[in-house]
Order: sequence, then C-alpha cells, then structure tokens
Amino acid sequence: MHPHSKNIASVKIKQVLSALEQFAPLPLQESWDNAGLQIGLTEAEVSGALLCLDVNEAIVDEALQKQCNLIVSHHPLLFRGLKQISDANDVQRTVMKLIKAGIAVVSMHTNLDNALGGVNFKIAERLGLTDVQLLAPKNVGGTECGSGVIGTLPSPMDAQDFVLYVKRQMEAQSAACNELMKRPIRRVAICGGAGDFLMDEALKAGADAFLTGEMHYHQYFGYEQQLQICVIGHYESEHFTAALFQEIIGKACPEIRTEIAETNTNPIHYI
Ligand SMILES: [Zn+2]
Repeated sequence: MHPHSKNIASVKIKQVLSALEQFAPLPLQESWDNAGLQIGLTEAEVSGALLCLDVNEAIVDEALQKQCNLIVSHHPLLFRGLKQISDANDVQRTVMKLIKAGIAVVSMHTNLDNALGGVNFKIAERLGLTDVQLLAPKNVGGTECGSGVIGTLPSPMDAQDFVLYVKRQMEAQSAACNELMKRPIRRVAICGGAGDFLMDEALKAGADAFLTGEMHYHQYFGYEQQLQICVIGHYESEHFTAALFQEIIGKACPEIRTEIAETNTNPIHYI
C-alpha cells in the first residue's frame, strides 16, 4: 500500500457547506438573496470543487472535465422559484445538466459580501490596502458584518496612476471614472458588484476614491473633486472571490482538491 493512500480522508459536501457558512453565515445575506445550497445531495463525497463567480452550462462542462462534483459560486444559480425544468432557458438547462451529472452547487453571495474577510476584503488585499475596515458596519445576531470596506493605499497616488493601478491589480480591461481628482488618493472605499448605494458613506468616512463594479449614469454626477469614482465592471470587481473560496476551503478541508474555474463567465465583452 502506498504510504499516503490510506490517509485520503473523504469529505462530504455538507462539511464544505458548513465550513463556508461558518465563514459567511447565511443570516448575513440580504433579504432578496438566495445564498446557500442551490442543488445537490449533501451526503455525497466531494471528488473536487470548482470555484467560480457564475454557474452556467460552460461551468458545468468544466466541472465534468475536472471531475468536480461540487461547484462553489458567488452568484446564486437560483433566485426565484422554477415552475418548470426544461430547455426553455439557460438557468433551466443548467439545472437539468447539474442534476443529470450529480453535481452540487453552493453559492455564497451577499452573505460573503457582508462577512468580515469577505469579497471586499479580498479586493482590498489585491490593492494592498492597509487598515481595512467595514464601510457600513452592522451587527446581525451578534456577528459583526457590513457593506463595503475602506482602507489606505501603501502610499498616496496621483488619480490617474491610481486608476491604472486598479485596472492592473484587478485585471480589468477598462475603467469608467468621473473627472480625475487634483488631489492625491490615499483612502479607498470599495464595494464589489453594484455598490453605488455606498458613495455617501464613502464620502463621510473620508474616502478619496470609490471603487465598484457597475453604476448608473446619473450616479456619476455631483462627486467631482470629492470622490474619484472608478468603475471596472461587475465581473472584474469580483472575480478574485474564487481565490477567497480556495482559501476558506483550503483551511477548513485541506483534503479537498479545489480548482479555480478557467471559464470566463463574464457575459459582457469589450470590443
Ligand atoms: Zn456580484
């Protein structure tokens, strides 16, 4: 017998689910959200976990190819109830394909946005921010959590250099900004995804810049020379969440093989 072969402990899907929920408890999610187990049998043994932002048919194909019977995504596959499971649309086809293949899906969405050490802390880490704190802290059943983070750049940056730095660190192809600030950028507020609801909080907290994934046209008005708005795309703002999943699972269940998805699920293409 190979000396290591007997040590390969089996881990069940429910153990990974509980490790993820321990890091980002489900009560932390927003009321409209549907984080948690989406599909699958939790008593099954994990053959491997594919980590991604969105679940679509291409991701299921990648899971099959990589022999992963668990997909961990940031965005939930299911938001509303399904009244039919057929080939009528992409979500239904994906559900059908997952069930046929015996692949489970777990999604950690706004519960992970709001958790300490969650999505926005990961973005702050990519930017090398220090002194990172919750931007809009709250307390849910004794757990400290909240929306957005704010932190300090290692050294002050010229506004244009800052935007280019963000693009590079986040591997983004474009950045939509308001008028470039004439003062240096030191404090940066962050909210992955659609974060414009936090801009006034960012100003109040003394941020020089506000980084988010997407924002409506009219929201750009009125912050000139107050806040350097920097909008890099929803996918680009959150795609390092897969690396965060890898850290969480690696710590709690080191026996499990985790794979960061190679499939780019961004539905938006820049021409
Ligand atoms: Zn998102």
